[in-house]
Amino acid sequence: MTILNAGTRRHTTWAASAPATPDWKTRSICRTGEMSDDFFSTSTAATKRARALCLGCPVIVECLNNQRQVDDTIYRWGVGGGLDPDQRRALELEELLGHVPNLGMARVLVSPRWLYQLKSLRSRCRSLEDLVAALREDGLIVDEVTVRVAVWWSGGEGARMARLAPDDRRSWRQQLRDDYTGVVLALHELGARRADIAAYLGNPGTNAAKGVSEIVNAAAKAGMELAA
Ligand code: SF4
Repeated sequence: MTILNAGTRRHTTWAASAPATPDWKTRSICRTGEMSDDFFSTSTAATKRARALCLGCPVIVECLNNQRQVDDTIYRWGVGGGLDPDQRRALELEELLGHVPNLGMARVLVSPRWLYQLKSLRSRCRSLEDLVAALREDGLIVDEVTVRVAVWWSGGEGARMARLAPDDRRSWRQQLRDDYTGVVLALHELGARRADIAAYLGNPGTNAAKGVSEIVNAAAKAGMELAA
């Protein structure tokens, strides 16, 4: 790619956007097809095994990048790039909100140097926000969506919603209404499906989608009353 270097007014060849190695698939751990059933199973245990295999795969970044390009509602199925379909859907919504992960940094976070620390923080922090703050205290410059991918890769849930404190008696739906109405409405405005919003927040169940619907419907009703 040739660009004009504005500082020197010279044409410069820029190789920053080097294409992904075309042969990355030949270096994948899953290329032999062993355990392929685990990659396309609805069983939680099988999905977990497949994701664990991805964690040790040398081309996990290339694979997830590729998956993000080909994922859509028809073909979205199975584990790919270390994530299950709900996680990849949640990642799409992150990107809809303008949050793009740094997959190279996510890979660092699951390297042998950092994985133990990440898992240990995972069990102690109540939210992604807390986890990011703790990693920054350790000197890492990271953002939430990058840490979210690393948590998923490391086998965690990486939920967007904070875990409730032990003395917090609110239900999931109540917490959704109290703390996440703004996010739900923003994603709804951006055209996200209700079930996808629930998955984005870390709860892909049907009940969670109903909670999202309650918020959207209440906002629509309040809007109509204001307009009347
Ligand atoms: S990241 Fe997982 S799905 Fe992708 S190539 Fe590697 S083992 Fe296969």
